Amino acid sequence: MPILADCHMHTHHSGDSDAPIEAMISRALELGLKYICFTEHQDFDFVYEPGEPQGLFETDTDAYLKELRKMQAKYNDRLDIRFGIELGLQTHIAEQLKDYASVYDFDFIIGSSHLCNHKDPYLKNFFVGRDEQEAYLEYFTYIKECISSHLDFDVYGHLDYVLRYGPTKNTKFRYPDYQEVIDSILRALIEQGKGIELNTSGYAYALGAPHPCREILLRYKELGGEILTIGSDAHDPSHIASDFNKAASLLTDCGFRHYCVFEHRKPIFYPF
Ligand SMILES: [Zn+2]
Ligand SMILES: [Zn+2]
Repeated sequence: MPILADCHMHTHHSGDSDAPIEAMISRALELGLKYICFTEHQDFDFVYEPGEPQGLFETDTDAYLKELRKMQAKYNDRLDIRFGIELGLQTHIAEQLKDYASVYDFDFIIGSSHLCNHKDPYLKNFFVGRDEQEAYLEYFTYIKECISSHLDFDVYGHLDYVLRYGPTKNTKFRYPDYQEVIDSILRALIEQGKGIELNTSGYAYALGAPHPCREILLRYKELGGEILTIGSDAHDPSHIASDFNKAASLLTDCGFRHYCVFEHRKPIFYPF
C-alpha cells in the first residue's frame, strides 16, 4: 500500500507559508491521500533576526481552528482532515508549552527543535568558531534536554534537522560519533510512549535522505521504536506527499511494517 497520510503540512496560518488551506486540501485529494494533518508553527519565544516581525512563527490558533473546522465539515466524506500543531520545544518555556498543549483539542502535536539554547541552527553563526560535530552535538543534547522536560507532544519532528545547515551538511555524519546522545533520545521517546516522524523535506534540502536519516531510523527500530508518522513539511500544495515513495521503500527496508496517524492524540497504525 502506498502512504495515504501526510502528517506535516503548513498553510497561511504559519508565518512562512501563504498557501490557502483549500488549495492544500485539493492537492491532497488529487494525490489520492485519505488523511492529512495540518501542523502550523507554534514557536513561542523565538529568537528573531533584526527586521523579522516578532511573532512570525506563532499561529493564531483560534483563527486556524475555526477555518479547519469549516474544512472538516465541507470535506467530511472525502478526506480525513486533522487538527495538529508543530510546537517549537524549548526547555525554559516548558510550563507555557504544557499549558498551550492542554488548552486545545489537538489530534496531533509534533515537537520540534528549531532553536537550541536560544540559537538558531538555520543561521551561520551557530557553526562559527567550532567544529561542525560540536555544533551537531549541542543540538542533539538540547533535544535530549527537551525530552527530559516531559513536554506534551506525540512525535519528535525532523530529529536531525541540524544536518541541513552545517557546513558539510550530512556528508560526514556517522552515527557512532553521536551514539550516546541519540540512543538516549530514542530510548527516552520510546519509554515515554512517544515517537518520531519521518520528514521527507530532507530530500528537498539535497541531503539525499529524509529527517532523520537511515542510521537513526534503523537504530530507532532496533531499540523497539514503533510509533512513526510521515510528513512532507509542505508549505505549498506542490510539496504535499513529496518523496513518499522513497520514504516507503526506506522504511520497509529498515524493517518498519506500519506507519501511524494520530487522532485525539492516539496513534493508529496502518500497514505499508
Ligand atoms: Zn519544523
Ligand atoms: Zn514544519
